[in-house]
Amino acid sequence: MRTNQTKMFKEFDATELYCSRCKRSVPVRKRLLLILQEGDKYEYLCAFCSGSVGTKMDRHEKPGKLII
Ligand SMILES: [Zn+2]
Repeated sequence: MRTNQTKMFKEFDATELYCSRCKRSVPVRKRLLLILQEGDKYEYLCAFCSGSVGTKMDRHEKPGKLII
């Protein structure tokens, strides 16, 4: 039973991104940044230092176009 491990990471992406502070690829947390008409903008935060390592737009209407 490992269901509790993801309680804070409802939309956790398995992606690892490069963190310039940690100087390595790190697991990221996804934080909702903006809610726009065309979609939600998320920020990825380093799981270790909580620094921003990137943003992503999740579009509501037209799935299939991921911008990383
Ligand atoms: Zn970091």
